[in-house]
Amino acid sequence: MSLRIKKGDKISVIAGKDKGKTGKVLKFDRTKEKLIAEGINIAKKHARRKSESEQGGIKEIPALIHVSNVMLFCTSCNKGVRFGIKVSDDKTKARICKKCQKVI
Ligand SMILES: [Zn+2]
Repeated sequence: MSLRIKKGDKISVIAGKDKGKTGKVLKFDRTKEKLIAEGINIAKKHARRKSESEQGGIKEIPALIHVSNVMLFCTSCNKGVRFGIKVSDDKTKARICKKCQKVI
């Protein structure tokens, strides 16, 4: 399948500690089949203050999550859904929600 989850997509987490959360894909690693999404799988890192002007404390950084733990989010269904590929007459491919048949 050539059209899968890509950068900028909205996804919904279906497994793990962030189950039910949604976020925008910031980065997709095709070789590892893992992605980084906004607000998902947050790893807290303690940052040390380097100067007086800089703020120390805890930095929240989204960590990689495996693609099998997420689903593409459908705005009409308002949840993570399975999707299929629809090929139009002009051969352009689009991803459609398998539930409501709308283009995602
Ligand atoms: Zn849908």
